Amino acid sequence: MDMRLLAERLFPHITQTPEDIFKQYPKRQLPKGAMVTRIAPSPTGFMHLGNLFGAVTDERLAHQSGGIFYLRIEDTDQKRTVERGVEQILEVFSHFGLSFDEGATVDGEKGAYGPYYQSQRKEIYQVFLRDLVAKGKAYPCFASEEELAELRQRQEAEGANPGYYGKYAIWRDASDEAIEQALAENRPYVIRLRSEGDSERKIKHIDLIKGEMELTENDIDLVIMKSDGLPPYHFAHVIDDTLMGTTHVVRGEEWLPTLPQHLQLFETLGWKPPYYLHTAHVLKMEGNSKRKLSKRKDPELALEFYHKAGFPVEALLEYIMTILNSNYEDWRRQNPTAPYQDFPFSYKKMNRSGALFDMEKLKDISKNTLSRMTAEEVLDGLLPYYAEFDPDFASLLEKDKAYALKILQIGRGGAKPRKDLTTFADAKPYMAFFYDELFAPEQYPFPENVSSEDLEAILSAYPGIYDENDDTTAWFDKIRSLAEELGYAGETKAYKKNPDAFKGHVGDISMVLRVAITGKTNAPDLFAVMQILGKDRVIARINRAKTTLTGK
Ligand code: GLU
Repeated sequence: MDMRLLAERLFPHITQTPEDIFKQYPKRQLPKGAMVTRIAPSPTGFMHLGNLFGAVTDERLAHQSGGIFYLRIEDTDQKRTVERGVEQILEVFSHFGLSFDEGATVDGEKGAYGPYYQSQRKEIYQVFLRDLVAKGKAYPCFASEEELAELRQRQEAEGANPGYYGKYAIWRDASDEAIEQALAENRPYVIRLRSEGDSERKIKHIDLIKGEMELTENDIDLVIMKSDGLPPYHFAHVIDDTLMGTTHVVRGEEWLPTLPQHLQLFETLGWKPPYYLHTAHVLKMEGNSKRKLSKRKDPELALEFYHKAGFPVEALLEYIMTILNSNYEDWRRQNPTAPYQDFPFSYKKMNRSGALFDMEKLKDISKNTLSRMTAEEVLDGLLPYYAEFDPDFASLLEKDKAYALKILQIGRGGAKPRKDLTTFADAKPYMAFFYDELFAPEQYPFPENVSSEDLEAILSAYPGIYDENDDTTAWFDKIRSLAEELGYAGETKAYKKNPDAFKGHVGDISMVLRVAITGKTNAPDLFAVMQILGKDRVIARINRAKTTLTGK
């Protein structure tokens, strides 16, 4: 069959040539060493840690080298595409502060190397498909599901490798009549690459993360156009990354097995492949062994999990950096306040075999991150978080931001800031007692060594001695005197030396007050708490505790 004529019959609407297309995608003019990277998610509605790991890697490599980082939407699989999938992708990355120089946007796209939606690139792919058919490097395959099933059975019976290749490639060398007839019957078809590969031959390949490897040549006649006229990932990847000028492809190691196919496609098209960086999977410990995080079993694989749990974006990014580059933590110790973007990111420091995801470590980092933030920064994170997950609490915070800031200010700013919050979700239980609307202790966890009479005595005496204008020392001196009056040691040291001489010590008295005022034993600095609540509410709470205790 005259392949040129066949190509024209299969793609009558295609009038452009590969040269025409290349003119529309001129080589990028970038400084030497500049990397062009992209993320290419499918809008499936599921964004996971792997997506974020990849995106941070891509973003750092591009922006650190003065290159371009772009977003391409891989939506050729209509079955997997969900509504709002693209919006979700954009929201996630903007939430993490990763900005694209080019690509899909909320209302279209930006950049000169588009369209950046694969579903809009059908004609471009077909220009190359037509060219490959015309050159005899690809052919239509009309095999039906039944024929393919039969083929599998035959291979099984013969003990041959499964797949559409060599003598098993039914349509590879089909007669003109067979093709004519299939076309006349309007039978659906795919386009396959005519593989020149040999499964006995090996190729050497250098992956920038995994290192040097030996791969087996691909001998399968790959589908490069599906029956809906769109290409599968393999072909789209090769065309798009070439036209869009990607220099470094960062993608999950699940793509390694099909790498020989991609390299073969580049060779067939006569193009130079990009550098590949196949990233290791995120692993978790289960018992004594490591395993891949799974969508079904591990909710923490989904990025949504971190959002709902209220981890600040800064904390998650910080943690990801420690996983991505083995020397990041050392750098951080030397540069405690620098933005992570100042770190000299290198793919050479990336983990080859699988990064362990450690939730406890993330929590630890998050706690430190939150403790170093200013009260304003924390509030800026709390407001949208609670607006989404607990609007009532959000309105309480919103109603009096100055008040919320005073609360968040407690213990912040010094060399050793308090670490009360691991996530934004911890803020409500931590702050709730400051709000009368939420302060409702049913029971007070008073210290057990203080008798009911003493509790009553302390709560009765306190309103008389509390003066809002006292400084900490004056205030505490009064507590000390009260302690001594009731037979408690005014100094803990004195109590420790001779515990039998006292009922307890001054700490017990302030604990009684703390419990009465906050409903909890582990509230922040009591003096600061009282200053924020104001005298009236302090007294009201003391009285309320007394009434609960005595029924009077
Ligand atoms: N759409 C592919 C994926 O989501 C992209 C892989 C790549 O980056 O090339 O896995």
